Amino acid sequence: RPLTVAIIGRPNVGKSTLFNRLAGRRLAIVHDRPGVTRDRRFADGRLGDMPLRIVDTAGLEEAPADALETRMRQQTERALAEADVALMLIDARVGVTPMDAHFAQVLRESPTAVVLVANKCEGGAGEAGLYESFGLGLGDPVPLSAEHGEGLAALFEALLPHE
Ligand code: GDP
Ligand code: MG
Repeated sequence: RPLTVAIIGRPNVGKSTLFNRLAGRRLAIVHDRPGVTRDRRFADGRLGDMPLRIVDTAGLEEAPADALETRMRQQTERALAEADVALMLIDARVGVTPMDAHFAQVLRESPTAVVLVANKCEGGAGEAGLYESFGLGLGDPVPLSAEHGEGLAALFEALLPHE
């Protein structure tokens, strides 16, 4: 059985970039309701020899600003309900934002296991954000670069206990 991994986080942290990197075969876009586009994307993929089902919480970027928070909460809750593990991404170059802290709180209150990922860490540029993210209370962050494919071995190690 593949490990179902939901990629969670505020817009622009690199969720879809990580989804694309891990995805082998795109499966489906789930339209939850009329007028709500691209709520969740699914793919089969693998990390090393670990089969994954990956869930991208996409489409938030297109939401009207006043609906953004509600939609983020809904998407996150649905993705968490389906997932064995949540990958909570932050942009380590930006550091921890209030919206990241909000997501972290939702995840701390959820029974779903969480792996914290500090993305955009290539070239050491995310070091300050990486250390800052220890303060989110989600355990040790995994430094990653979804765009450059760095840190995938450490991500594999972090997912192993949840298989
Ligand atoms: P999403 O909104 O969370 O799905 O984020 P995207 O995957 O759309 O990425 C947002 C932006 O961050 C895009 O311009 C990406 O190219 C960029 N990005 C994603 N991953 C990385 C990374 O590892 N390093 C850097 N420097 N940029 C990244
Ligand atoms: Mg996206």
